[in-house]
This record gives sequence, structure tokens and C-alpha cells, in this order.
Amino acid sequence: MSNQHDQGRFETRAIHAGQGHDPVTGAVMTPVYMTSTYAQRAPAEPIGGYEYSRTSNPTRTALENNLASLEGGTFGLCFASGLAATSALLNRLVPGDHVVAGDDLYGGTYRIFTKVFERYGIEFSFVGTSDPEAVRGAMTERTRYLYIESPSNPLLRLTDIAAMSAIAHAGGALLVVDNTFATPYLQRPLELGADLVLHSLTKYLGGHSDVVGGALIGRDPSLREELAFFQNSCGGTGGPLDAFLVLRGTKTLAVRMERHCANALALAEYLEGRPEVERVHYPGLASHPQHELARRQMHGFGGMVSFELAGGVEAGNAFASATRIFTLAESLGGVESLVETPPSMTHASIPPEVRRAAGLADGLVRLSVGIEHVDDLRADLEQALVAAREAVPSA
Ligand SMILES: *Cc1c(COP(=O)(O)O)cnc(C)c1O
Repeated sequence: MSNQHDQGRFETRAIHAGQGHDPVTGAVMTPVYMTSTYAQRAPAEPIGGYEYSRTSNPTRTALENNLASLEGGTFGLCFASGLAATSALLNRLVPGDHVVAGDDLYGGTYRIFTKVFERYGIEFSFVGTSDPEAVRGAMTERTRYLYIESPSNPLLRLTDIAAMSAIAHAGGALLVVDNTFATPYLQRPLELGADLVLHSLTKYLGGHSDVVGGALIGRDPSLREELAFFQNSCGGTGGPLDAFLVLRGTKTLAVRMERHCANALALAEYLEGRPEVERVHYPGLASHPQHELARRQMHGFGGMVSFELAGGVEAGNAFASATRIFTLAESLGGVESLVETPPSMTHASIPPEVRRAAGLADGLVRLSVGIEHVDDLRADLEQALVAAREAVPSA
């Protein structure tokens, strides 16, 4: 690739970092290199540095360099899904190693920790990471990772990344931040002391709900070597078309996130004023208990909003079935608005008492606010609130 533009501000690097025009044809867009193997000049002398596409592929390299630039890292490694990235991260550990993790992680992350890697003798402790003392108390001399998400899902709780970095490093552990909800446009954990950033590219970075992918981004070259070894040895890499789709997504990340944030704030404020709504969770609201931390740590508050309907599970489900623009679906981060009810959907496997103790109200509804016109979205919420009240008159 020629004409590398790895300089400039975020919006500029989002479009150019890792990508230049194709030196052979002049193609402005990064080609989708649909090849599994590469010609060699002589044995073990690959022509362009590539040998086999599990190990590396030029379209994937472009994405890896683009993501490294956006997160302020020196390397990126891409995977077939967010969970394949998590898996590579855990492949570095050996039996007896310990991980301290947040107690409201993405469900799939909790599952791979407890149902897959615990069987290999890796130990996990789950703590509320908004409380630094609880985190410090959970660290042991075998703790290798402190693993956090901020903002968390679905209650949008924040964790102080700089404080976690101090605790992790004092205990000889690495701080890993799942930055899927915030994206590097709104929050850059490596600049706050994190050692590795993890992404589900499936969400905001892809941004169009048309691709599944994951990434790890960091700064330490020896960590890169180790993780690249597991990326290649375990083989959880995505294909070049996946990489191309995510590259197309990151080009518009900045403008999409601006609109996601503006729409989400407007809808959170609207919901806070509605009598059917008991509580709104959004870091951009002054009523959010960690609003000050959000202002300090993030450059915007994101596109995820959750709220509690007074009428419980039935009201939540009636609401989510009544929306017309908000599609009832799991996942998040695409241009289109989605709605889901965690107690019946993403968090249904958690027993009701445990769920309530963790702060997840029965009437909880989660919105992934898209970039449609905010007036249309507000009108959609309004008619669905009316429909929910009619279905559950006690609400
Ligand atoms: C979706 C998601 C993941 C898992 O990513 P996949 O691409 O679905 O494997 C991890 N963390 C968070 C916060 C997510 O939302």
C-alpha cells in the first residue's frame, strides 16, 4: 500500500489509517483480497510478506492498522467475532491463573469465562468494578487480568479506567477494557492506562449490523507476538470481506457516533419526563450516579439507553412489541434503532432473584438508539408507551 495517511485527527485517521490507494491499480478502496495463499519467489521467500491467510491477509492488515490508530495503540489483531478475541486473550493463561472481572459483563463473556475456561483451571472472580476497594480486595498474586466493561450492559454503569489501571498494575496484572459500547471515538482506554482494548466489531465499529468480528488492540510488542501466536495457532480469524465491511464502517464512525449520542440524549431526557417510566439509565443525564466520571472519561455518552417501566415484565414486553421504528432484536450499534427487554431476552438465563439483586428491574427495556430522525424515534417511543399502558393498565 502506498500513500499511508496515519497522521491527523481521529476523523481523518478513521478514513485513512492503515489504508492507501492500491499501488498496482490505483484503487482508492482497500481491495478485498480473496485468497487463502500467496505466491513465493523461492521457498520461504514470500513476494509480499504474506504466506497464508489464517496467519495474515492484506485486507485484515489494513483493518488491524486502522483500529490500532483509532485506539492509540501500536498493534491491532482481528478475529472472527468479539468472543474469538476474548478466547485468544484467555489462551495466554495457564491453569491456576486468575482473572478479576466486572460482575455485569456481556453475557457471552461471562459464559466463555465460566463454562469454557474455568474447565481449563483458570479462575475467575466477579466484582462490582465501580467500587475500587472491592476490586483491590479480589486481586491475588495469580491475577493476570483485570477485565472490565465501561459503560456496562444493560445498566450503563461506569468504571473508572485510570483507577483500575493503577490497581491492576500494582497487582502485576494487565488491565483489559471491552470498549465495545463506547468505541474509540468516545473513550480511549489505552490513554487511560489500559494494556489491551477488546472490541466486538459487530457493534458500532461495523455499524451496519451486517458483519460479525472482533479485535484486540494494545501497545506492548511482546504482547502482540504472544496474541498473534494464538490468533494464528487457534485460527479464529475472520475473512477479508468481513475486514472490508468493518473498514467501511470505521470511516463513518465519528459522524455516526455524534448522531447516536445526540439522539440517545434527547430520548433519555424525553423518557425521564414520562410518568410510565420509573428510571432512566444514561451516562449523559445529570441523574446518572456517575455523570461526573462520564464527563471526565468519555467524549460523549453513547447510543445505549435503558429504562424501567413501572408495569414490570409485562409492560416491558408490551412496549417492545409495540414499537414500529425500533426493531425488536438483540445486538446493538447499528445505524437502525433496536429495542429489547433484558429480563426476557439477553439476560433471561439469569434467575429472577439474582437478576433483581443485580439491579435489573423486571420492567427494564434497553434501546440501541440509531441515527434516524430523532422526532420519528421520539414519536415511536410515545406510541409504544401508550400501547404498553393500554396492555398493562396497572402501570
Ligand atoms: C457483542 C459483544 C461481545 C461479543 O462479541 P461478538 O462479536 O458477538 O462475539 C463482547 N462484548 C460486548 C460488550 C458485546 O456487546
